[in-house]
Amino acid sequence: MSARILVVDDIETNRRLLEARLSAEYFEVVEAADGLSAIEAARAHEPDLILLDIMMPGMDGFETCRRLKADPALRHIPVVMVTALDQREHRIKGLEAGADEFLTKPVDDVALFARVRSLLRLKVVMDELRLRESETEVESDALTLGGRIVVASTDGAAGQRIVDMFEAPFQARLTCEPLETLRHARTADLVVIDLTTARFDGLRLAARIRSDAETRQTPILGIVDSDDRAAMVRALDLGVTDVILRPLDPGEMQARARTQVRRKAYADALRDRLEESLEMAVTDALTGLHNRRYVVSRLRQNLDALERSGEAFAVALIDIDHFKRINDSWGHQAGDAVLKGFADRLRRELRAIDIAGRYGGEEFLILFAGADADDALEASERFRAAMAREPFQAPGSGEPVAVTVSAGITVGEAGDDVEDVIARADAALYEAKSSGRNQVIAWRRRAA
Ligand code: GH3
Ligand code: MG
Ligand code: MG
Repeated sequence: MSARILVVDDIETNRRLLEARLSAEYFEVVEAADGLSAIEAARAHEPDLILLDIMMPGMDGFETCRRLKADPALRHIPVVMVTALDQREHRIKGLEAGADEFLTKPVDDVALFARVRSLLRLKVVMDELRLRESETEVESDALTLGGRIVVASTDGAAGQRIVDMFEAPFQARLTCEPLETLRHARTADLVVIDLTTARFDGLRLAARIRSDAETRQTPILGIVDSDDRAAMVRALDLGVTDVILRPLDPGEMQARARTQVRRKAYADALRDRLEESLEMAVTDALTGLHNRRYVVSRLRQNLDALERSGEAFAVALIDIDHFKRINDSWGHQAGDAVLKGFADRLRRELRAIDIAGRYGGEEFLILFAGADADDALEASERFRAAMAREPFQAPGSGEPVAVTVSAGITVGEAGDDVEDVIARADAALYEAKSSGRNQVIAWRRRAA
């Protein structure tokens, strides 16, 4: 995994040292000698990760981190603080400033690269989400922090001590059995796994949580012994999001949990927005049916499948009769209500594999998968009857509005493009209109 790393340290020797080791692993390194130039460098070089020294003259690492995390353009870059002393106050202060991780000087390579890899993996996911979400900024301060924590430990007493470290707004629950953990993990904001309990394969549990679709995004905080470097590295490589070392410190536990929960809330918000915008891109806002772009692209796919493997399909172009009169007599809103009512009935009558979209104002295109003209005729006749059977309720109309529709049918033919199919359906629709409306007609080749 190649990435650009910004190394911030006021002492040149320290920068050189880190640079040499990171370059040896093919990371690209950018350097800054103080807090302000670090922020500038972050803007200019868009690093994937920042290694930030704490003790610096002028603006120290905490303040630098706070500023980086307060800047919407920079806050997604993971920050690893490098501290000379393994001091508890430093770690908590750093986490509160928004730091993602800590390394103690002298930095040891195994720990460094395990942390770097795990943070970069996370950043790849976040960047992907952010990319598609470029216009609107998710305001992370406005995110309400969830706080459901599942603690997994086979040692009941030790597990309970961990649970007791969490204060409101966190709600921690102890689980002593993997299946129980997995079940609760689905609704959790964080899973804490005690990797130090004997006869308990916590790493296997972590891997399960990572591979289950419902919990793939759930952060995992692993507890390891401070002298068990191998366990820490294995845990991070397996997808544990963060590790905390024994002996446990409640303040650090809470601070790390907060970081993970906040990050998850941010990622969830991005993901929701993304789903919403994907949804909006294919849906017609008024009727909730697919929009024109979507049905046309599906029609194109149907033509490809026909070309490739001879899969048949039919289409219907349905148009509401004298729709303009509804608008003219009862107003545009009544017209809209009829369009919605029409779409609801259509949805009810449609087979699951068929696709309906709003093609134009009061024109709808239906794609019938695997169907011939007779199948499409039969289904469209059912739609037509369902519309004519019962008038529509529309605001401002006083009385229910009787609505009929006309439809033109055609099947996909070898060599067609999208326009050919639509043109034939449209010709059949025109015939249905001109021969009295409220009917369905299949396209026929005119006898020469
Ligand atoms: P025909 O039976 O020949 O199809 O007659 P028609 O009146 O249905 O057809 P025409 O194409 O003349 O009129 C369609 C009308 O649909 C014109 C347009 O103002 C209206 N319309 C298009 N989109 C909407 C919409 O979203 N809401 C409402 N209320 N009206 C719409
Ligand atoms: Mg019409
Ligand atoms: Mg029309």
